[in-house]
Amino acid sequence: MGQNKKIVVIGSGFGGLSSAIRLAAKGHDVTIIDKRDKPGGRAYQYEINGFKFDGGPTVITAPYIFDEIFEAAGKKRDDYFRLSELDPFYRIFDGNGKYFDYMRNEEDVLREIDKWNPADKEGYLKFTKRTIEIFKLFHPYTDKPFLQFKNMLKIMPGVIRLGAYMGTHSYVKRYIKNDFLRKVFSFHPLLIGGNPFDTPSIYLLIMQFEKEWGIYYANGGVGSIVKGFTRLFDELGGTLLLNTEADRILTQGNQVTGVRLKNGTELEADVVISNADAAFTYRNLIPEESRKKYSNRQIDRKSYSSSLFVVYFGTKKRYLDSKLSHHNIIVSKAYKKLMKQIFKGTKLPEDLSLYLHMPTRSDESIAPEGCELFYVLALVPNMKANIDWEQTSEAYKDKILAFLEKNYLPDLRENIIAEHYIDPPHFQKTLNSHYGAAFSFTPSLLQSAYFRPHNRSEQFKNLYFVGAGTHPGAGVPAVLSSGKIAAELIDAPTNQNKR
Ligand SMILES: Cc1cc2nc3c(=O)[nH]c(=O)nc-3n(C[C@H](O)[C@H](O)[C@H](O)COP(=O)(O)OP(=O)(O)OC[C@H]3O[C@@H](n4cnc5c(N)ncnc54)[C@H](O)[C@@H]3O)c2cc1C
Repeated sequence: MGQNKKIVVIGSGFGGLSSAIRLAAKGHDVTIIDKRDKPGGRAYQYEINGFKFDGGPTVITAPYIFDEIFEAAGKKRDDYFRLSELDPFYRIFDGNGKYFDYMRNEEDVLREIDKWNPADKEGYLKFTKRTIEIFKLFHPYTDKPFLQFKNMLKIMPGVIRLGAYMGTHSYVKRYIKNDFLRKVFSFHPLLIGGNPFDTPSIYLLIMQFEKEWGIYYANGGVGSIVKGFTRLFDELGGTLLLNTEADRILTQGNQVTGVRLKNGTELEADVVISNADAAFTYRNLIPEESRKKYSNRQIDRKSYSSSLFVVYFGTKKRYLDSKLSHHNIIVSKAYKKLMKQIFKGTKLPEDLSLYLHMPTRSDESIAPEGCELFYVLALVPNMKANIDWEQTSEAYKDKILAFLEKNYLPDLRENIIAEHYIDPPHFQKTLNSHYGAAFSFTPSLLQSAYFRPHNRSEQFKNLYFVGAGTHPGAGVPAVLSSGKIAAELIDAPTNQNKR
């Protein structure tokens, strides 16, 4: 190993924690700073009236990625937090109360397809073969840097051969005839902020990740993962400074020298890693006149993911006899039109497609006895759209709860005893996400891999990026991998540092 370095990580999201733990385990002197009062970023856990609401990610897959982080520190993940497998992965409602149980096992999936359109079973098997090919081709790149264009040239023949440049829904349409089943097998881009009708089917990779490794619930909620990571970081001698906001990344020529905080304190560093939103980092933490690439105009003209509106609510009674499972997706009838309105529109759409999380189905410990905990998520346009959220949010929250009360959870509103919501201004102001995008840059072909901001700055040789706005993209497995990539680049001998 090379010399120990003084490293400052801006942001304690999963990308920041993953890189910081790996580097602390190597003996570096690592400090994480975060502007919020608790770590985790989007995975912040809200504790209200005895309910523990996970603020963001709920679907956990690929446990090996978590295990690797603990192994890098000579520890076992099970000693920090436990994961329980979930099946069905998702219960997907068609808007008329009929649902599809999306299971791990192929025979179970075929049985579900039978209920909708038996003739689609054959097409589904062909489709699965293709997704496995996509997975095999691209999975090796998910935890490797993408610093050079020649790597793009290496993957392009595969992209073309497999048609993986096609929009996900169109891809699925080639194999599946039933309209609802097409939605079922093409929704995965939504998990990373992409429109299923536009996002290239390379991202079907995510679907196969889930099948390969399963979907898990973190006992005690995703907050227990954040706690496990911060405990490990602390044991390794790392420093976590909360309520501490970076104001400027200090630069000198083609190097960074540290971070200046909002309160004026300067933290010197041999290496700076930004886990803050990549667009925000360039636009707000590095003065435009010091940047050779990524002018404000270039940043603003990029395409940004949707934002989200999430309502967290706890009820004083259980809803055990409801049709709901742990992870539920409620698809609207005019789905394609709704997606267009969310991703390209300028107004808040009338229609609703929702993800409804009911974790007390699997874990009663996160709510007071006899109570149920939920969160409901609606995709909404990001802050480029002309929506006055200050005037809109309360009414929008009521609309969503009224919809759930009418269709899924009788007497809901009179039973709520804990409630909180987040809206696009939360993403913009609290999480510092440019345009309030919930998943940073859209996962398009021209904003993926080499074309996404690199894990090491092209200009400043000791500045690194982790998190959703950099390679390999948004979602927990991806941002944890970005942390691995950055940590490996930082410790790589100079002659191997060019991948
Ligand atoms: C509601 C929701 C549900 C989701 N569901 C899933 C899911 O089920 N499964 C899945 O895999 N993914 C899911 N995702 C996506 C996933 O949560 C994110 O892609 C991932 O957590 C982002 O991690 P990150 O490393 O980019 O950091 P973030 O979580 O974005 O954290 C960045 C941190 O940087 C801090 N920061 C910013 N600016 C500064 C500054 N100037 N100074 C100091 N600190 C600063 C912020 O306070 C924040 O803590 C979901 C996202 C959301 C919002």
